[in-house]
Amino acid sequence: MADEYPFEISPMFEGERIRKDGMHVELSGPKSKGYELVRATSMDEIEDGKFTLIGPDISEMEEGSRHPFAMIYKIAGELVEEDLESIVERRNHDFQNYIQGLMHLNQRYDVWIRVSKDAVAKGLTSFEPIAQAVMMLFKNELPFIEKVEAVYITDLAEIEKEMDNVKAIYKSRDDRTRDLHDEDVDTFYGCTLCQSFAPSNVCVITPDRISLCGAINWFDGRAAAKVDPEGPQFAIPKGDTINAVAGEYSGVNDLAKSLSSGEYDRINLHSFFEYPHTSCGCFEVVGFYIPEVDGIGWVDRDFTGVAPNGLPFSTMAGQTGGGKQVVGFLGIGINYFRSPKFIQADGGWDRVVWMPKHLKDRVLADIPANIADKVATEEDASDLDSLKNFLTEKDHPIVQRWEEEAEEEPEAEEEVQEATMFAAPPTMQNTMPMQGMPMMMPSSSGTGGVKIILKNAKVSIEKVIIQKKE
Ligand code: SF4
Repeated sequence: MADEYPFEISPMFEGERIRKDGMHVELSGPKSKGYELVRATSMDEIEDGKFTLIGPDISEMEEGSRHPFAMIYKIAGELVEEDLESIVERRNHDFQNYIQGLMHLNQRYDVWIRVSKDAVAKGLTSFEPIAQAVMMLFKNELPFIEKVEAVYITDLAEIEKEMDNVKAIYKSRDDRTRDLHDEDVDTFYGCTLCQSFAPSNVCVITPDRISLCGAINWFDGRAAAKVDPEGPQFAIPKGDTINAVAGEYSGVNDLAKSLSSGEYDRINLHSFFEYPHTSCGCFEVVGFYIPEVDGIGWVDRDFTGVAPNGLPFSTMAGQTGGGKQVVGFLGIGINYFRSPKFIQADGGWDRVVWMPKHLKDRVLADIPANIADKVATEEDASDLDSLKNFLTEKDHPIVQRWEEEAEEEPEAEEEVQEATMFAAPPTMQNTMPMQGMPMMMPSSSGTGGVKIILKNAKVSIEKVIIQKKE
């Protein structure tokens, strides 16, 4: 299959990482601009297999350089509809990663690509074979695509000219689920595309919860499951509602158990702490618990500084990914901030204490008016002390929690002493994501009956609470 290309093509290259010293060029990414976009078009508007490049080719790029980069694919076919655009767009990530010497990360206008020195040395000097390979894979793997055409752009002015239009397309996709909610449907959709690098990850996509990568909403999942029910996106019968606030459904739990190979058997779709959704690594934003204020901060890929907990996005992303239920960190798609069910089991926006300014500005219209000016940004708080001061000054609802917790503290102390006298030694099943966190640690061992609460744990753990599970 790969003879006509100057590279090998295989899913086994999906995990390939190209570090800076092994890279010939970097395309788009956090320090440049770009996007990927798929558009459903009519059959007569497409010249099947045509490739157009606007701007310099790989052969004209200096080793070690960085360039803006956009990829547009037009697709057509009798079954092709607009709802399939996101699904096909997401497969560009897979198929580019099938190419040896090419690394594709993220999605939409966060795409980040590297071409390795080895690949260039073996003859990859043009974007054309990359585009041709991806188009070939689109047609082979997604048979509803009858015609496909690709336009790649490396010219900054051309990319910037279209950027607003492209963002408007992403936004209109995201807006489609606004008036539809989890309780209005009896089917959710799942995606296991990221199991190639996060083997136990199952994305559950509902009207009120977009995928972690932000690229697939409920309508997209439905369209994909319809054209390819055996594919990576599939229907999940919702089953019985176990907890409407937390977002726990029997159908989701059944599926989680089978698709995660028993790694976990419960998912609360709208909870940060108890049986949270898994995080694969493609998430647009990471949420992180800040035990010192009992609140949750959020940080996205575009934030290059450190959050008030002293950690940058990259470190927290490393803690969060892998397809596990990591209590204390949660990966989400940006559109989940707009959900009326946003972490509602944990207090929703009343629990949010910090986020980067550009991210806050982006979702400002969806932050409840009574809390918007109480959520700190890097301009208000750069460390824990300034964060505490800001929250106190603004009378953030979290301050009320501090007061309530302070009142409850003596009783809790007694419980700790009593519980630790009789309990069996704890078994840590979950990754310990931060230097300190008071939280419930749900056992994933299947043995049940034990909860572990780590309280004020920093490097050494001050207190361990072990309780019999109710
Ligand atoms: S993040 Fe989730 S929805 Fe997006 S491609 Fe991966 S598994 Fe699918």
